[in-house]
Amino acid sequence: MKRSDINSVRQALERLREALEADLRVLRPTTACGTVPTETNLELVAQIESDLARVDAAFQRLQTGLYGYCVGCGDEIELNRLRADPVATLCLGCSRRVQRRASHC
Ligand SMILES: [Zn+2]
Repeated sequence: MKRSDINSVRQALERLREALEADLRVLRPTTACGTVPTETNLELVAQIESDLARVDAAFQRLQTGLYGYCVGCGDEIELNRLRADPVATLCLGCSRRVQRRASHC
């Protein structure tokens, strides 16, 4: 991956994290402002927290130089794919295989 590509991915990840954290601030049930936690909110919060964990994991891979490599086969992940989904950990081929396997279950 080129340095400029890494920078643009890092920016995309930072924007993603800011957006997720902003959502969390709105949704997270707090007694202080009197927001009543609803089941839908709790599900959303859980979803956002797992997205945030994926963003953090992507930042860690950036730091260790593993970012952009498929965890399935070790090949480089397509740049277009990373632009569309900066937290992707699988290349297109592997992600198709995983989806096929999941649909068989
Ligand atoms: Zn792969």
